Formats: sequence, structure tokens, C-alpha cells
Amino acid sequence: DDIGRPSTTPFRPPGLGDADGPGTVHIRKLVKSFGSHTVLKDINVDIALGEVCVLIGPSGSGKSTLLRCIDGLEEIDSGVLKVNGEHLGYAEVDTHFRPLSRIERRRQRTQIGMVFQQFNLFPNLTALENITVGQTMVKKTSKSEARERALELLARVGLQGHDDHYPIQLSGGQQQRVAIARSLAMDPKVMLFDEPTSALDPELVGDVLDVMRQLADDGMTMLVTTHEMGFAREVANSLLFMADGYIVERGDPREVLADPKEARTKQFLKKVL
Ligand code: ADP
Ligand code: MG
Repeated sequence: DDIGRPSTTPFRPPGLGDADGPGTVHIRKLVKSFGSHTVLKDINVDIALGEVCVLIGPSGSGKSTLLRCIDGLEEIDSGVLKVNGEHLGYAEVDTHFRPLSRIERRRQRTQIGMVFQQFNLFPNLTALENITVGQTMVKKTSKSEARERALELLARVGLQGHDDHYPIQLSGGQQQRVAIARSLAMDPKVMLFDEPTSALDPELVGDVLDVMRQLADDGMTMLVTTHEMGFAREVANSLLFMADGYIVERGDPREVLADPKEARTKQFLKKVL
């Protein structure tokens, strides 16, 4: 069967550079298992600086696992995983690899932002404190500088005046925008979004997508799992369809959505569109 055969002609969005250096992701033959269950079987992907890539696929196909690997939350079993031009968790020394120290790993991880479906804000901190805490604790930014940056980021996500609100006083859409601002405060070069609008009431989805669209326009490299096909069509440079541990199809979002090439993609899109 050819269902999971990896694409032999990897699509590269036109007008973007190589997948190397800051703001890029480069993955070859990535394998990730949980016990005897191999979730990611052979993942090969390049994401270029400034690219917005939307990842779709059936529930359980490994989308979150892939994002968690790229964020350094999961260790991979084998393959090459370079984020921002560096091997994640390892330094390449001549032809050998040496594991990075915890401090070096932490530096790598601050350069990768992740936004989750369930916001994960600190409930006992205000919106402003949620955005300053990582800056002062991890980046060692001064309190006043962190506060200034947080206010600027709150304005950027359309939440000026909400700095003293606790998460419980904010709508889901507002909480998610605070979560995005918190992530941006670490100055990531790649942003990962795992179904960022799936937990939101429909009327709150638009404001979050607008913030993401703005971020894309500003040139952020983004990898997004979402069911929002309008966002994929209008904002993304590339669409990845994943199933059974493989990337089955990749292409221009408008083309893939209108005219999928692989039977497995057709089947999936028929159900969600
Ligand atoms: P998706 O995000 O596409 O729905 P996931 O990456 O969440 O898929 O899950 C892919 C598969 O990996 C599922 O079968 C899931 O049960 C399994 N899985 C994910 N995380 C773990 C874990 N920590 N331990 C064991 N199995 C896991
Ligand atoms: Mg998931």
C-alpha cells in the first residue's frame, strides 16, 4: 500500500530561502515512538525563514507530537532535527554529536515559542505578570524593561488596559492572546501553534487568528496545526497533510485544498471541508 509513502518531491514555497539558520526548521528521517507505538515514522520537512506552514491530519496522526519534538518537549528516537540552524539538544563537533548542557538547551528552547490549545496561563498571575515572568526569570530582563515590553505586547495583541486582569477575568480568546504575547516576550524565532483556536467559542476565534495573521505579516516563521482552513488558504505558504506517521502531501494551500493529489488527503478533506 502507498498510503504512508513519504513524498519524493518535497514542496518548497516559492520566494523563501533555505531551511537553515535562525527562524528555520529542518527535519530528516525523524522517528518518534512511545513504547512500541511508533507515532512519527519518517518525517522530512523544511520550513524556511518567514514561512507559515499549516499542518493538518486526522486526530492521533502525530501533529502535536511533531510540534512537541520541535519545541524540545519530547526527545526524538532518531533522525535529524535542526531548529534555528542548530541540532536541538545536541552540538555537532566535527562528525560527532555531544548532548548540550541544560543551560544550552534552555537557550535553544527560549528561541522556540509554543502556544497550546488550553492557553496554560499562570492563574495566580495577572496578564502583565504572565508576560513578564519568563523575561525576568529566564532572560534576566530588568523588571521595568520587562513591564514595558509586556505593555507593548499587550497592545500588539489588542489587549491594552487589560494588564491587571487575572486569566479568570478574561475570555478564552483574550487568554489565548495573552499566551501569544507571553510567548513573544521571549523573542522566539520560530512559533509553534497547536490548535490555538480549538478551545474557543466561535465568536472569539477571529481575534486570535487576526493576531496570528499579523505575526505572519511581520515575517515570523510559524508552524500551525488548525482546523481553520480559511487561515490556511489566506495566510499559509504551505500545507502539510500528515497521516499514519508520515507526511503524505505538501503543497501550496490553495492547490492542496482545491485539488489534493493523494487519495488519503482527498478522503480527509472530504470530511473536514
Ligand atoms: P494529533 O495531535 O495528531 O491528534 P498526537 O501527536 O497527540 O496526535 O498523538 C499521536 C499518537 O501518539 C496518539 O496515538 C497518542 O495516543 C500517542 N501519544 C501522544 N503522546 C503520548 C505519550 N506521552 N505517551 C504515549 N502515547 C502518546
Ligand atoms: Mg493534537
